Amino acid sequence: MANQYAVIGLGRFGISIAAKLFESGQEVLGVDMNEERVEESHPYVTHSVIADSTDAEALKAIGIRNFDTVVVAIGSDIQASILSVLLVKELGVKNVIAKAINKLHGQVLRKVGADWVVYPERDMGIRVAHHLLSPNVLNF
Ligand code: ATP
Repeated sequence: MANQYAVIGLGRFGISIAAKLFESGQEVLGVDMNEERVEESHPYVTHSVIADSTDAEALKAIGIRNFDTVVVAIGSDIQASILSVLLVKELGVKNVIAKAINKLHGQVLRKVGADWVVYPERDMGIRVAHHLLSPNVLNF
């Protein structure tokens, strides 16, 4: 059975996650406050909506608590990222994954309830270095 995912923030990171889940047969709701990002996401998600994830009423209106997993893929607006994770957890979502742009951001995300914090730039940098150190190992 398909899991229900919501991806908040449809930048390069968010849309990559959403598209891969959708391609694998999962139900994916894309959420962004930018109308253009929402329109561009249509081929890669089950549904997408324009909403501000720092607005608790907007999150309730999209039924965020019914999703098994919510990915908060907002990076540069740290305040919006933190507030979104806090609200999504308070509204009862069990599994919340959040993107952090630095260590302090990640620590705060953990404190407000993120279940898993990812650091895309740092982790990709480490992967590239591993790849350079062992060019015969294909890990993609
Ligand atoms: P990426 O590195 O993934 O491409 P980015 O640098 O383009 O991200 P970010 O600031 O990380 O931009 O934001 C990612 C997306 O999150 C953007 O499309 C932005 O419109 C969206 N976003 C930011 N704040 C909110 C919010 N409060 N509610 C909904 N979407 C938001």
